[in-house]
Amino acid sequence: MYPARMPVVRLSELLGRPGPAAFLRGVVAGGRYANAYLLVGPAGVGKGTAALAFARALLCDARGGTKEQGGLFEAPDPPSAGTRATAAPGPPDDACGACPSCLKAAQLQHPDLRFLFPVSGEEKELETTVAETLQSLRDDPLYVFSYEKAASIRLSMTRELLRELGYRPFEAARRVVVVRDADRMREDQYSAMLKSLEEPGASTVWVLTTARPARLPATILSRCQRVRFGPLPEEVVAGFLRERAGVPAKTAELLAALSSGSLTRALVLRDGDPADERDAALQLLGPAARGEAAELWRAVQGFTKFGRAGREVLRRMIEFQELWLRDLLRARYGGAEVPLVNADRAGVIRKEAAGIEAAEVRRRLMVLEEVLRAVEGNVTPELALFSGLSRLTRQRFKGAAWPPHPTPRWDY
Ligand SMILES: [Zn+2]
Repeated sequence: MYPARMPVVRLSELLGRPGPAAFLRGVVAGGRYANAYLLVGPAGVGKGTAALAFARALLCDARGGTKEQGGLFEAPDPPSAGTRATAAPGPPDDACGACPSCLKAAQLQHPDLRFLFPVSGEEKELETTVAETLQSLRDDPLYVFSYEKAASIRLSMTRELLRELGYRPFEAARRVVVVRDADRMREDQYSAMLKSLEEPGASTVWVLTTARPARLPATILSRCQRVRFGPLPEEVVAGFLRERAGVPAKTAELLAALSSGSLTRALVLRDGDPADERDAALQLLGPAARGEAAELWRAVQGFTKFGRAGREVLRRMIEFQELWLRDLLRARYGGAEVPLVNADRAGVIRKEAAGIEAAEVRRRLMVLEEVLRAVEGNVTPELALFSGLSRLTRQRFKGAAWPPHPTPRWDY
């Protein structure tokens, strides 16, 4: 059963990914740790969850996470022999889930687990922002990290940590520093981290995650053991949404199809009404097909007036169109029994599919791909969508004036 109020799960509970999870479990079982691990892969596929799960396993008492009594380190006080004796031995390659260290780490309250993540906003509110984020993460097992473009791992957050690095861990045999989106740091932070990475026999294990490894300095990259994460299979995303997020089966499938293998994306989409959004997206094609330039321009602008958020909405609009087109292909060539993503509109899709050639559907998909790329790039998104939709419906808007750029550009 999913531990509903444990923000940090165990390695064995990671979602459908035998590869990276097996690797990390192998590392735990082997008991020899590199100074740093870099979990690389697209956003929202579970790198952050895996990083914390790995940290928990490294700190587990049953895995030798606690300092040896009479060994190199002093025993923590009060002596924890009693609790250690009762701690379950647990699996050899994962956190036991029951010892004091595991429980503390699961609540992100282990003194030797440092968890850094990007934040934005005023420096004076930083502590509150961090505390609130951690609390949300504890309270909501489906918590989704989302930050603005300018969010970064702030100097004031690493300062204390960097001081601590000079000392022994508080309770555990090692300190684990998890850095989410480690590509959002400053040069001097990397230099300080590098010093720790280069230290032989260091008592700190760094676990970094990134979706943009190219932004990390080569000096850091070369000292990290890399672990690659791929997109989650659609059925894993759909299953999670159904079983753990209480999403109805049909919506779950639609969301999973839209998620590109990112659970985070699926969860963000869930907060809207996917069926309504899809209908709004499909309605955009109406004015385009009728050649109503001004109407289309107004509709397009409706999506983009919210700045960066508008861009995200717009991207989704395009993806809804793509899903629809893929359904047309499925319906036309897959036969009546092939399941459709837009199952609630199966009748409309099958009718439309009967009247359209595969080549035309592919042409439209290609146009949409170009629009998507343009939206991701620096093109004004409403212009990209406007011209894309007119190409989609082969409308040239002859005689109509190209709509003037109506508002000053916002800052991308
Ligand atoms: Zn444990």
